[in-house]
Amino acid sequence: MSAGPRKDPVAVEAEVREKIHLEILKRTGAYHANDHVLLPSGQHTTEYIEKTLVTMEPSFTEGLGAVIAKHFAQWPVDVVLSTGPGALILSHCVARAHPSRPVVIYGTKGLSGGKRRVSLPVEFQRLIRPSSKVLLVEDLVSTGSTLNLLINLVEQLGAQIVGVGCLWRRTSVELSGRAVFSLVSRDFPTYDPDACPLCKKGVPLNEEFVRRRHARKPSSVQEPKAP
Ligand SMILES: [Zn+2]
Repeated sequence: MSAGPRKDPVAVEAEVREKIHLEILKRTGAYHANDHVLLPSGQHTTEYIEKTLVTMEPSFTEGLGAVIAKHFAQWPVDVVLSTGPGALILSHCVARAHPSRPVVIYGTKGLSGGKRRVSLPVEFQRLIRPSSKVLLVEDLVSTGSTLNLLINLVEQLGAQIVGVGCLWRRTSVELSGRAVFSLVSRDFPTYDPDACPLCKKGVPLNEEFVRRRHARKPSSVQEPKAP
């Protein structure tokens, strides 16, 4: 049933390709290594990807999108489905480079009764039909929960998943046997603060990414009113 590719070329070549892609991500400024980072979850880690910076350089994004498209070029694709507006630039680049000239749409994430859910904007719903072949695109796959929800959604509509293409995938992630192609497959350890080896060494904690998030919350707009 899964139509995706399994066979990678020579392992060495794959390793070299991954290094190149990692280097490209570094050059966008999105990839932080050898750091001591506070994650939004409260855990600490040594590596971090700033999602918003990943697609800042159009030529890099186009190049990376073309690599994903090439990987899936031998399978017909009607629809490239971005996991959300965030991965839309990359999805566009994948669709642009795919020989089937697929359309690009995106899902939306939300909460319903405390449960995470995904849906398709009404305008897009008619584009996924029982015969449709759908390629899912995500920027970073960490838990895979959004992708799994989208896979269910697409299959409920009777359409077929060609595969999943992404920039970065944590190696431990499993997507129920789907063909996943990632430019970089890399896991990095996360630590509870009280068990973090970097804290024990006294390495200063980089809270930049978490603080920036909090700054966007409306609750922080509680400045004293001007008299
Ligand atoms: Zn730490």
